[in-house]
Amino acid sequence: MRHVAIVGSGPAGYYTAETLQKADDIAVDVIDRLPVPYGLIRTGVAPDHQSIKAVSRRYEGVALTDNVRFVGHVAVGTDVTIDELVALYDAVILATGAPNDRPLDIPGADLPGVIGSAAFVGWYNGHPDFAGLNPPLDAPGVAVIGNGNVALDVARILAKTPAEFAGSDIVAHARDALGASAVRHIHILGRRGAHQIAMTPKELGELGHLERASPRVDPADLPPEGDDALLEPGMRKSVTHLRSFAANPVAKPVTIDFDFFAMPVGIEGDGRVQRVIVERTTLDAELRSHGTGETYAIEAGLVVSCIGYQTPPIPGVPYEHGRGRFASDDGRILPGLYAVGWARRGPSGTIGTNKPDGARIGEMVLEDIGRGAGKAGRAGLDALLASRDIAPVTFRDWRRIEEAEVKAALDGNPREKFTSIEAMLAALGR
Ligand code: NAP
Repeated sequence: MRHVAIVGSGPAGYYTAETLQKADDIAVDVIDRLPVPYGLIRTGVAPDHQSIKAVSRRYEGVALTDNVRFVGHVAVGTDVTIDELVALYDAVILATGAPNDRPLDIPGADLPGVIGSAAFVGWYNGHPDFAGLNPPLDAPGVAVIGNGNVALDVARILAKTPAEFAGSDIVAHARDALGASAVRHIHILGRRGAHQIAMTPKELGELGHLERASPRVDPADLPPEGDDALLEPGMRKSVTHLRSFAANPVAKPVTIDFDFFAMPVGIEGDGRVQRVIVERTTLDAELRSHGTGETYAIEAGLVVSCIGYQTPPIPGVPYEHGRGRFASDDGRILPGLYAVGWARRGPSGTIGTNKPDGARIGEMVLEDIGRGAGKAGRAGLDALLASRDIAPVTFRDWRRIEEAEVKAALDGNPREKFTSIEAMLAALGR
């Protein structure tokens, strides 16, 4: 029997497990520090995007196969080290994602009220690390920095009415806080232009259908319409949405302004954020942005920086600091140690991008470990954890947690999540 440990139970982890479990004589342990599985699906994908979250049913199918096991509430790095896992398993695959924010490196970024998207998204999704975030929603202005899909998620969640969260699994603390929010003017700041956005058309189009909020684009910021022909079809669709927002401004109580060529250069406030100083930019021939020296201020009581993520380094594991991911030769980090998903490629692509990635790394691992007798694997891990008095959460346990979450859901919602590890364990009587 060959033994493989996958660290991280998000999309990359389960897509890799899906490929591995089809092989003969293999046992796969999917280890997660939380007592609940699915990583980004549970705590990253927006709560009002249930159709994307539905992919967890596929991961459940993998988790329920005989040769795959969920080992929850076991933190790699503290409960068990990478070296111990490498000694116990024929292969260890890091599918740890990229849960840390890229730092916003401008003066004032440490003021209270300046929040990274990992924390803000984790807050409205009930990630135990961020449930107590309590973001300030008491001022009309908010600045959302970045022109990617996360910036869109954050702006949309801030703009929605409580009724628009029907059918979602937004957690109660966020539903209540957003329901009482004073936010009226949301600025999405992009340091480049409409043709350089990283927003996909479906997500951008959603902003045009909000109950009390309307997107606004300054027509003067858009390139000549003929230039759109040069874009690939997806981008062209996205830009068409921006053109439609520019051409049909709709008066609603909440505004979502797209500020293009707008580079935040400083954040100011007396004890907390009050305004963002923005410098106008121009693009050079390589489409890089450069400040023009012309600045303006945006009043904001909350700044959410959505400028991308990083994989946290693990001591002893080679790491590419510039790219914020593990250093690997196309997935091979060290003998017996691999990376997959965002931990391998960096934080780009959709959930579905992890499917071919997981399949490829799974095949690579199977080829590398051959058909040998294998190491101690899960029996070895169980003995090690028992010697440390650590009782993992099993997939069966998780289903009991899930059952309690479904039971607690508001009418029409899929679940009301537990937002602390203690509450998750309490549902198991621990
Ligand atoms: P992203 O797509 O990489 O976008 C990051 C944005 O931040 C870019 O617009 C970038 O601008 C900007 N940025 C970076 N550094 C900056 C700085 N110092 N100052 C100002 N702006 C800066 O990242 P993301 O939005 O975090 O999304 C991560 C991945 O998850 C993406 O692949 C995304 O599509 C995916 N995702 C998908 C969905 C969905 O499908 N519904 C939802 C959420 C996320 P430049 O281009 O100028 O660098």
